[in-house]
Amino acid sequence: MDFNQCIRFLESEGVRCTTQRKAILQYILKNRNHPTAMEIYKDLVNRRLSNSLANVYANLDLLEKVELIRAIRYQKVPAKYEMATEAPHCHIVCDKCGGIKDLHYLSHSETLRKAVLNDTGFRLVDLSYELRGICQGCHEAHTL
Ligand SMILES: [Zn+2]
Ligand SMILES: [Zn+2]
Repeated sequence: MDFNQCIRFLESEGVRCTTQRKAILQYILKNRNHPTAMEIYKDLVNRRLSNSLANVYANLDLLEKVELIRAIRYQKVPAKYEMATEAPHCHIVCDKCGGIKDLHYLSHSETLRKAVLNDTGFRLVDLSYELRGICQGCHEAHTL
């Protein structure tokens, strides 16, 4: 989904496309590195589009509620955001710095969907594993 499709989607959901909401969406579309609310907020402050972190959180919650963005929540690190239009996948988060990477091979595969259906009768809609580790940068800093 590109920016204009996102805007049309929001309009169809009856969500007002305020300047701040548009700016948040643009930021998440452009920065595919799972930004936090604080990172998004700093960008908006620099562009004089926001002076309230609480507003940024409220708008992120709203965009999450209409399922346009997804929040990745791990204990001890702030929530990180990505577009919900990406195929569901798992993440691994660094215990030391909170860095995050996508694990696209742990995803909602057809094989898994069938196995779950056969085994339990459930229709699979989402999956998440909480994978934690030490990222390469933190590992190297520690072994130097
Ligand atoms: Zn790290
Ligand atoms: Zn991701």
